[in-house]
Amino acid sequence: MKAGLYPVLGPPASGKTALALDWALGVLERRGRVLWVGLPHQRAYVYRLLGARGAFLGLEFLSLQALYYRVLAEAGWLRPLLPGAGRVALVGEALRELMGPGVAPGEARLFARAIAELKRSGLSPFALPKEGEAGRLRRVYLAYERLKRGSLDYDDFRHKAIKAPLRLYPEPSLVVVDGFREVGPLDLRFLQRLAKRVPVLLTLEVLPEGLTPWRELAPRPPRREVLALANPVEEARYLLKALKRALAPKALGGEGLAPEEVLVVAPEDRIPGLLLLKEEYGLPLEDGRERSLAETEEGERVLALLSPYPTGRDLLALGFARLGRKALRLGLAGEEALGLLAEREGLLEEWRAFLALRAPGQDLLAWAEEALERLGVEAKEPFLARLRLALRVDRADPLAWWRSLILDETLPPEVGKGIPVLPPLRATGIRARRAYVLEWVAGRYTLGEREDYFLLEELREEGPLRGLKRRLRGLDPLFREEVASRGEEVVLLYPRAGPSGPLEPLAEGRRPEPLPPSSRLEALPHTPFRPIPPSRARGLPTLEALRRFLEECPLRVYLERFPTTDGEARGWALLAKDPKALEADPAVSPWLQAHREHLEGMAFFLNWDGRRYRLRLDGVRRQGKAVHLYRLLPEDEEPDLGRRWTEWKALENLLSRDDVEAVHLWAWPWLSEPTPLRKTPYRKGEAVPRARAIGPRLEEALAGWEAGSFAPRPGNACYTCRFEDICRKEEG
Ligand code: SF4
Repeated sequence: MKAGLYPVLGPPASGKTALALDWALGVLERRGRVLWVGLPHQRAYVYRLLGARGAFLGLEFLSLQALYYRVLAEAGWLRPLLPGAGRVALVGEALRELMGPGVAPGEARLFARAIAELKRSGLSPFALPKEGEAGRLRRVYLAYERLKRGSLDYDDFRHKAIKAPLRLYPEPSLVVVDGFREVGPLDLRFLQRLAKRVPVLLTLEVLPEGLTPWRELAPRPPRREVLALANPVEEARYLLKALKRALAPKALGGEGLAPEEVLVVAPEDRIPGLLLLKEEYGLPLEDGRERSLAETEEGERVLALLSPYPTGRDLLALGFARLGRKALRLGLAGEEALGLLAEREGLLEEWRAFLALRAPGQDLLAWAEEALERLGVEAKEPFLARLRLALRVDRADPLAWWRSLILDETLPPEVGKGIPVLPPLRATGIRARRAYVLEWVAGRYTLGEREDYFLLEELREEGPLRGLKRRLRGLDPLFREEVASRGEEVVLLYPRAGPSGPLEPLAEGRRPEPLPPSSRLEALPHTPFRPIPPSRARGLPTLEALRRFLEECPLRVYLERFPTTDGEARGWALLAKDPKALEADPAVSPWLQAHREHLEGMAFFLNWDGRRYRLRLDGVRRQGKAVHLYRLLPEDEEPDLGRRWTEWKALENLLSRDDVEAVHLWAWPWLSEPTPLRKTPYRKGEAVPRARAIGPRLEEALAGWEAGSFAPRPGNACYTCRFEDICRKEEG
């Protein structure tokens, strides 16, 4: 095989990898040496393909980055590597130099990404215009390069590899570059240079400008089946059952596939749900998502320590369990709220220990090392290295930067141990015998092409930036084709509707036959938990409880009769309990003064007991033969007299008494003006149709209440129910 570049062009699943493998095997059989260059997540896949063809020596898989690194090492051109997080830190430093303090990590990340793209295409800062946002990028790029002097970022490796003397020891007999959709201009220049020494087989889906293919492969569409399920839950359960059947031995009615013969592609946000169910189905699912340092168990603890607004979850992660659980239950966040909670719950000791752990000492590195030790972090160096970078960017406030840099850098992919569940981008360049693709609906499988913030499309079309890749290239159909061909057989699943309504499938499918039960829960006799609702409520119900018993949820109304906390009295309740306390409050006192006329002589929260129910009146004031009834509302709440029963029934009862001539109805939100329901009061002898209409409904409610049917009635009321679905839990 002669030295030279052999570009092979073919759509997804057209046999590019198979062709490359044949070439590689031919070389290996002749005891040659093959360098296989691909994306890091393809390593295990390539070795497995090769292993399936026999035992061979002489093939080495490496990423393009590793190849550049090797070329520079052989040439003696290596210098310290600046990793991705370091790059963001240096850009932050450059921004601070140019624009002063107050640079956010997110802004630095935006610039770092733009600089990386320019460098990948071999463009220097001088290719950028001097004006506008692109001009700002130019200045930051220049400053970044100056600050970086002495070390190399990933793109410098690429750039230098083009110029470094190629020693290539031991020299490969073949270089295969496979698994990429396309290559950038600098990568291509490097490969062309390499091809002068050795044969280089380059397989691509999109050919760079000016390169003619040595061979073009025709599409070989895989066997595809599209299945429609009712909703995402049914879709996920169907997938798990199908996987179980695929792995089960043939003797048990399964298909006898090995885990590595199957893969699943799913939108990133669906993956945690599938992984959660893997125990129930006993499936060896493996998380194929990219992880950053922050997503490791140790990283989560460090992030909890650095959280600017600590939450209950953070406290739990750091081992402050009692306070953490209480904060989580109340949904509190932030030091102020948590401090108050600790004080109220008598957990100040725990709170102080948390604050002490968080408080950085004079020597930040020593404090961090000690904190990491206390958090049980074994590999401290990756965290400390990022703190050193953060200190370089912002000595005064490095913690926000430390947090951001921990979030930034992705970790190398783990070696496959089961069925990989891959997000769409991690599935490129990998195939299996059977692939399942979840949620095959419009908008889910896209490359998210959009205009760049700094360099708009027209800048990329001409002038010195012409080498930059266009952002709007309409590659989505190719990408979808790629996802839909990740196996020799591909099963595309989609839900007909999701929580927000019907979904548009990318291809119409049929409803599959139901699969046999596959988890213990599905296989065992189905006896769902049914709580036994209470059957009797002692004491008189209030009229509002009866109304809500009918209109909302009987169980909730029943449970709300028992006070669950000694909740602090606020607003009207506090005024009724301790008016003196509020008179001293500068926010309330002027309002109390202004409404003295209404408040003087007002009785709060009166119980008016009848034979079968109780009227609980918020506020009542007598003025001779006139009675004022007040509906007292929390601050800013809308009047609700139209919905309630109490005031109308009280009005009707009052007007039937000899000592009452007129009744005034008021609605009064806390700290606002009282508003009369109508200008004139209700007078004796006047018909009150609203009160009359309540009669039959009240009878119905009383009959239900006395019969004792307090079953839960799920509905809108659940959104505000403080019993947190107690009705559906096995342990209360
Ligand atoms: S969660 Fe819903 S159904 Fe259950 S008690 Fe509360 S309101 Fe009733």
